[in-house]
Amino acid sequence: MNSECRTYFERISEFLDGELDRDLCAKIESHLQDCPECRECLESLRRTIELCRRMAEEEIDPGVLARLKRAVLEALNH
Ligand SMILES: [Zn+2]
Repeated sequence: MNSECRTYFERISEFLDGELDRDLCAKIESHLQDCPECRECLESLRRTIELCRRMAEEEIDPGVLARLKRAVLEALNH
């Protein structure tokens, strides 16, 4: 994962929550189109979040989300 990917991935959870401004969203979207690695990350993160939400039927604890993101980043670095 290069530093550009890392920068975007840091914002992915905000992106998924629709919390980013439009410029940054557009940048992430165009990066995702060019980068299969980030698309894969996004998909696995999104699936995990959906699974958690379905089980808990409530918002995910930000601490849990941070741990998830770290776990995905670590997996990519191996
Ligand atoms: Zn990328």
